[in-house]
Amino acid sequence: MVLLLMMAACSAHSADSAAEKKPESLDFTLLGTYPVGNDGRSELITLKVASSTELIAIRSTWPEGQSHPNFCFQLEEVRADGTEQWVGKTTVSSENHTTCSECLHRVYMQAGSGAFLFPNNGQSLPELSSLTFKVVLRDCLTALPVSADVDGPIPAHVVVETGTLKNKPAAAGKRLSVAIVNASNSSITPEFMDVVMPLVQQAYQPIGVDIELVSLSDIARPDGERLEYNGANMSLLGDLADTAAKSIGHKQTVPIILTPCLHFENPLLQISNDVKAVVPHIPGGLVSPGSADAVFVSAESCLFGPDSPAWLDADGLARILAHELGHFLGLYHVPDHLGTDPQSDNLMHPDELSVAFIINPTQADVIRRHPWLKE
Ligand SMILES: [Zn+2]
Repeated sequence: MVLLLMMAACSAHSADSAAEKKPESLDFTLLGTYPVGNDGRSELITLKVASSTELIAIRSTWPEGQSHPNFCFQLEEVRADGTEQWVGKTTVSSENHTTCSECLHRVYMQAGSGAFLFPNNGQSLPELSSLTFKVVLRDCLTALPVSADVDGPIPAHVVVETGTLKNKPAAAGKRLSVAIVNASNSSITPEFMDVVMPLVQQAYQPIGVDIELVSLSDIARPDGERLEYNGANMSLLGDLADTAAKSIGHKQTVPIILTPCLHFENPLLQISNDVKAVVPHIPGGLVSPGSADAVFVSAESCLFGPDSPAWLDADGLARILAHELGHFLGLYHVPDHLGTDPQSDNLMHPDELSVAFIINPTQADVIRRHPWLKE
């Protein structure tokens, strides 16, 4: 369970082109506000799906003005046309983890706001007329489904928004913009990033995706020796992400936030770990503000203190960035539901410092469907 809970936590300058083609946008519209039962589940929600839809996004948030950091969002009982089961029903005894490894499609447990993108199994979306699903609340610390009997009062409503893209060919995405936002003591110069980015690009070039660094900026370093977080306490990460978004200014640009030593501390499960990097949302880029949506990378050494860099050289940082961008774009660790070879040469091997730059064709398909990839 520990490994699964930690899935996305890896223990592990140029200006925008004025002639840039407008990226495809995935706009969310309100589907409804739904009551949550004492079992932490919404009613069965139906989304009508138009013909030729290629991509379905579902986003869950709290009603305006509410925040419930202890409760995380996930979907269950996801079915196409009421029959084909994409995600099953979770049970306390068997599904105490952040994502279902047996499901046809994956849904990642998320704090603050949850975003789910279908398909995410490396195949095209079949023709379907409706998708039904329930929003289920989980305990952000234990990843267990919640119930009023055990957890006391649980949030009464969830808001669900949806968006779809039509006719987006699987091979459409070709460019991804990223921005480095430094909130650490480490010195990150344009010259250093000129060495790092071509190394990151080595992972994505074989699948025809360009990773473009569009800006490099500094924001205030948070106080303290290290930056602590856990599933129910993402507030420091959320604040950094919101500040970084203002600093970047560009839309549909992946914020890569360089932080003090990241430390995962879960008092309930008695887990205490320094982590190299964390991506709180898989996929990233689709949740509402305040949800700590970014790639966070420890830039200061947890071992040697805030004034020592976390990586040995450009290659060390590049390997972390390439792997974490994979999470942001929708990939999980291997072995995964895409049948990805668990051998050490895959980009999504849990130890991103292994010789791990291979993206297989099904993973490439998932990456290219991310709405932030541009023509
Ligand atoms: Zn990882």
